[in-house]
Amino acid sequence: MPTVTSADETRVLDAVEKGLFIAGTWRDSSNGATLKIEDPSTGEILCAVADGTVEDATAALDAACAAQDMWAATPPRERGEVLRRTFELMNERADDLALLMTLEMGKPLVESKAEIVYAAEFIRWYAEEAVRIGGRYAMNPTGSGRLLTMTAPIGPCLLITPWNFPTAMGTRKIGPAIAAGCTVVVKPAQQTPLSMFALAAIMTEAGLPPGVLNVVTTSTAGKVTGPLFEDSRLRKMSFTGSTPIGKMLMEQASKKLIKCSMELGGNAPYLVFDDADLDEAIDQALIAKMRNGGESCVAANRFHVHASVADEFAQRLGEKLAAMSVGRGTEDGIQVGPLIDAKQQAKVAELVTDAVGKGAKVLTGGETVGDRGYFYAPTVLSGVGADAEVLREEIFGPVAPVATFETEDEAIAAANATEFGLVAYVFTRDIKRAFRVSEALEVGMLGLNRGLVSNAAAPFGGIKESGFGREGGPEGIQEYITTKYVAIDV
Ligand code: NAP
Repeated sequence: MPTVTSADETRVLDAVEKGLFIAGTWRDSSNGATLKIEDPSTGEILCAVADGTVEDATAALDAACAAQDMWAATPPRERGEVLRRTFELMNERADDLALLMTLEMGKPLVESKAEIVYAAEFIRWYAEEAVRIGGRYAMNPTGSGRLLTMTAPIGPCLLITPWNFPTAMGTRKIGPAIAAGCTVVVKPAQQTPLSMFALAAIMTEAGLPPGVLNVVTTSTAGKVTGPLFEDSRLRKMSFTGSTPIGKMLMEQASKKLIKCSMELGGNAPYLVFDDADLDEAIDQALIAKMRNGGESCVAANRFHVHASVADEFAQRLGEKLAAMSVGRGTEDGIQVGPLIDAKQQAKVAELVTDAVGKGAKVLTGGETVGDRGYFYAPTVLSGVGADAEVLREEIFGPVAPVATFETEDEAIAAANATEFGLVAYVFTRDIKRAFRVSEALEVGMLGLNRGLVSNAAAPFGGIKESGFGREGGPEGIQEYITTKYVAIDV
């Protein structure tokens, strides 16, 4: 990545649109209100964007509904071509998109760039899937009559996304929705709307017609999106965010039985057996724990390590984390950026304090860093007791608690002792154990001897209170398609 200057920062901030994107035009909020966007590494205000109202959200849904029939009737190949051009433009402009993301979200530039590439992959995948949607024709098992299935886009969608992956959490929904022929209203997180504005501008340049994609930012998400759930024109809601908000939205969606996809919180166990390749387990732990500074739903939340290797694992992981450079994500060589805000910083600090109070030992870190921005030092805790909150709650920060186990059954029981079921990581060289444990873990995804599962070609999603529905792969587009069955008398 080229070294970033303050002139580069000003250039990308000036270039991005800061209004609501409705029916193909950028506009102010209906009451003129604005919402300030902060740089989490300094606490300073970067810029202000339109703060949408109920009227704005309704106008966005009106635009999506007006464009729905046209977009559904647009040939799949043309829909795919718009996505393909979007993929190319995202990659061409990856440096600027990454800088914009780092400014509003804080992650190091190299990670922002990796997210842009990852986000663009969803667009490419669904550019290719747009032409592969079809039904089937089969003989009735009795031999008389035929079964025909037809598919159709589900209709206008509301897509609500979080701040931790400001672009990728959007493209995982926008890509399949648009490929399937649906129109959308996107509500990005209030901390990170700029990346979504930049994406909307690129998609427009790529040829997306007005009204197909609409973006509404707001500081009052509940108030502004609430009425959309009362509107029977809305057919689908896809949410990525915390479990408590997901549950609330599902209640709202139940009034009109709006179909939901829920990508919610996680509490990923990272199991290291005594037969694991310890070098590999430690290297992969760095990815599973420290990608995105730990602010990821698939971050390894708790390390359960066989008692015979736990001390060595914790000590060596501690050395690696202690060597990581913490700072503003725009600076060269930075590996860990700030947390998103003061609330998240305080939550991480509280979890560490609680664990230490219950007997855990701090091997490295365990404190906030600097006097501005929301930094927290990469931290390893050893000897973490089963009663520590850090093992139960989603940390969303650079803290690695290490607990021990003696037997395989104990490891599985500890891993499954959570209401979440998003992902788990398992390190073992024993092939039979690998399959036994993979089958026993209650999760939607599993990393076997690897610390990264995210892949545009694979179905991402959870079970239990981590939600339902899948994003990515051939599965992801099914969330945006309805099936009609026709019984034929032949
Ligand atoms: P959050 O507080 O639940 O917010 C997520 C989104 O929901 C934001 O756009 C937020 O808007 C909006 N929102 C909040 N309250 C709402 C309401 N009453 N009605 C409608 N929308 C509402 O979550 P977060 O803190 O941004 O994100 C972190 C969480 O996301 C973690 O739990 C993480 O595990 C989860 N996550 C899950 C996945 C996955 O694929 N499973 C991926 C990434 C993140 P505001 O910004 O205005 O609050």
